[in-house]
Amino acid sequence: MDSDSLYADVFQNYTDHINPNLARLMAFAGFGVEISAVGAIITDHEGREFIDCLGGYGTFTFGHRHPKIVAAVRDQLDLMGLSGKAFFSKPQADLAAALAEISPAGLDFAFFCNSGAEAVEAALKFAKGATQRAGIISTQGSYHGKTLGALSTTEREKYRKPFMPLLPGVQFAPFGDAEAVAYLADDNTAAIIVEPIQGEGGIIIPPDGYLAQLREIADRSGAVLIFDEVQTGLGRTGRNFACEWDGVAPDIMCLAKALGGGIMPLGAILYARAIYDQIYDVNPLAHTSTFGGNALACRAGLAALQILQDENIAAQSEEKGRLMLDGFVEIAQAHPDLIASVRGRGLMIGLEFSMDEVGELVVAQLLKRGVCVAYALNNPRVLRFEPPVMISNDQIETVRRAVSKSIAETAELLAELV
Ligand SMILES: *Cc1c(COP(=O)(O)O)cnc(C)c1O
Repeated sequence: MDSDSLYADVFQNYTDHINPNLARLMAFAGFGVEISAVGAIITDHEGREFIDCLGGYGTFTFGHRHPKIVAAVRDQLDLMGLSGKAFFSKPQADLAAALAEISPAGLDFAFFCNSGAEAVEAALKFAKGATQRAGIISTQGSYHGKTLGALSTTEREKYRKPFMPLLPGVQFAPFGDAEAVAYLADDNTAAIIVEPIQGEGGIIIPPDGYLAQLREIADRSGAVLIFDEVQTGLGRTGRNFACEWDGVAPDIMCLAKALGGGIMPLGAILYARAIYDQIYDVNPLAHTSTFGGNALACRAGLAALQILQDENIAAQSEEKGRLMLDGFVEIAQAHPDLIASVRGRGLMIGLEFSMDEVGELVVAQLLKRGVCVAYALNNPRVLRFEPPVMISNDQIETVRRAVSKSIAETAELLAELV
């Protein structure tokens, strides 16, 4: 099949059987059909190569098809793919132990699932079960997923409204404002759930000490503190976990995205023994997942954790993130009327425009120049850059030049319009 008919065929099936409105948007932005990927590069149906700065919203921290992760999964595939569920599974046992080893103190237990939203569901459910309370405090601009429970804690009207009423008892404090959380927390608060850095909210970094204050508030009110590190976890921000920037451990941590090494879907919550006792003591099957903790996913996760350590992923992310951010700061200085701010930690970087719609234009411009990015789901003014950590300094320079040209061209376009 030639590339044009391949594209037409895929587009037609999206239109007829998946999501015609989304298909139209993707086509309008100029996206083709992804065929293969390696390292930081995705290749489309025309053989065009793109530097992947979207990185699957943080899924490809370890790159596309890291050879060691591919080898681990292949090896497991020759033994057994999914779990028989009645037997013990060594990959799952090993991964739980490895996560307990690298995670903040006290998070000795793991429950495995298949996505970020499922991890959030488990976290909220465990918090309710452990406290026998109903209230949940989340934050404005938060993103915790789109399943009903997770959506109840996701603060974006556009996603929530058609599905109201959602889970009752959820309140939203401004992100970064610990006092507001303290005001809302009481003896009916089951959980305080927060992203250490808001991803879809627009790469928002809270003030120093925010997470530590939330820790105190949770302790004082007897609430379970949940850090949603689905996007920030595993080296993305320049630390293995973003909460390390504040030196604070939660009671439950949610992981997914990069956990499967960019090869397998894998989610998890890591949580404290005290919570285990409340949930599983009476019923060892209180919360389960058929696919959760399957051997293929866990082998991918184990290989990913090994790479996290062997290749100093967090340190690399911090160093390369600084290089990328420095380049963007220069661009922002050249376009003070178009760019409101650039910010980030490690390779989790946001570039915020001062007006709507510019983001979309720049995404299309960048795509033409071989760089794949997207704006933040809850904040379309912010382009987010979360490339694989093995992105080379040369590729970072290519991205910088592409961003610079795309913004210059967009500025010209806008100038012609006024
Ligand atoms: C992506 C994301 C989720 C949801 O994960 P899915 O795998 O898409 O369900 C939850 N929380 C955060 C912080 C995320 O970035």
